[in-house]
Amino acid sequence: MKYISTRGDAPTLNFEEAVLAGLATDGGLYVPESLPKFSHEEIASWAGLSYQELAFNIMSPFVDGEISDSDLKAIIEKAYSSFRHDAIAPLVQTAHNEWILELFQGPTLAFKDFALQVLGLLLDHFLVKRDQKVVVMGATSGDTGSAAIEGCRHSNNIDIFILHPHKRVSDVQRKQMTSVMADNVFNIALEGNFDDCQNMVKASFRDQSFLPDGRQLAAVNSINWARIMSQIVYYFYASLALGGPHRKVSFSVPTGNFGDIFAGYLAKKMGLPIDQLIIATNSNDILHRCVANNDHSKQALNHSLSPSMDIMVSSNFERLLFDAYDRSGAAIKQLMEEFTSGSITLSDEALANVRENFTSYRLDDGDMVQVITDVFESTGYLLDPHTAIGVDAARKSRTSTSTPMVCLATAHPAKFPEAIRQSGQTEDPALPHHMADLFDREEKYMVLNNDIQAVQAFVKENIND
Ligand SMILES: *Cc1c(COP(=O)(O)O)cnc(C)c1O
Repeated sequence: MKYISTRGDAPTLNFEEAVLAGLATDGGLYVPESLPKFSHEEIASWAGLSYQELAFNIMSPFVDGEISDSDLKAIIEKAYSSFRHDAIAPLVQTAHNEWILELFQGPTLAFKDFALQVLGLLLDHFLVKRDQKVVVMGATSGDTGSAAIEGCRHSNNIDIFILHPHKRVSDVQRKQMTSVMADNVFNIALEGNFDDCQNMVKASFRDQSFLPDGRQLAAVNSINWARIMSQIVYYFYASLALGGPHRKVSFSVPTGNFGDIFAGYLAKKMGLPIDQLIIATNSNDILHRCVANNDHSKQALNHSLSPSMDIMVSSNFERLLFDAYDRSGAAIKQLMEEFTSGSITLSDEALANVRENFTSYRLDDGDMVQVITDVFESTGYLLDPHTAIGVDAARKSRTSTSTPMVCLATAHPAKFPEAIRQSGQTEDPALPHHMADLFDREEKYMVLNNDIQAVQAFVKENIND
């Protein structure tokens, strides 16, 4: 399997190279040159497989023999061994033909564990083989950082540095990152906001000369192809549990960077009968405006009660546009150049193509909180604020009540106590049993000025030999 850049002007890579590269040299994102297709009969034959068995069937065509079957199986086994529910991605029914797919059973209570547990082990596998060490540097506003740390902490070939904005992540999120006492894990609390953190990471990728000889940076952000690949699996898993592929299933997905729902789109293209794919956004609604009004323009960022979706521009949308523009790298290159002005308008054909595959919806904080209240009152089930947006999107945008609707639950409510308080709960949701002692755990992190020299010096000093 070959991987090509969405901007058409970067070397073609194999799976290993694409995983290690992250962003392409032309600024584009890597996508497979062609997608594996599964027949109806083949998908039907997977009914009853465990999550891990299914993951192997779906991932192996992408890995395409670059990792032996037994090694890939071991990676998948290990990746999901830290999940605390035997089903890995359990379904819970909340209304007639409406299900919640709980993607928060992993070590950091958010769906990002699905991909980052796999990515950490894939990186480690390739680095051991190459006898190479890398530095992972990432910026987080909360969920990605802890999931990346959990994914990389056991690798002897990775040092990981995660920047978060000092005093601007929730206590649960900070504790999850800073209570990891591994000697290859470093948390930097930057005296700045999330954008400052991200800009610093981007600048460090552009000029890596501050690193010791022989070291380079590796990216674990949501543009890494291995993350998308890992996320395709749970669409198949949920569908098979609800009678697929013999009937269609719809999905509603709380969306920020478009990585999660893009995996659903790929599942559909790979042969899974999917009816609707609903993009659910908060007030940072660039994707909703684009699908509804062909208005893909940057606006000031709002800080909402669903912070993991507070994203001004969704980076993985470029992967969809690549398909919508008939996989023309030149067209995407031009479009992205145009977008430096802050706004693009899609061609009629591209817009039609996007609308054929996606429905979109936006919900603001006040209404979102009401959804948490309503669903709790009718079912006793407590939604996290991201998931609540997805559930409302599903209820308002579904075109059929006879098609099963799966709402992806991207986080556990205990991660976002502020929204839960506002929904009228008198007590904060309890952390799951294995994390009950989180607030008693010791923390380790470094507060640094918003100064790239200071951050890079800290990184350099702390890299393990
Ligand atoms: C990251 C995240 C999202 C958004 O996922 P994308 O792949 O960026 O669209 C939604 N909810 C939660 C809780 C997240 O952590």
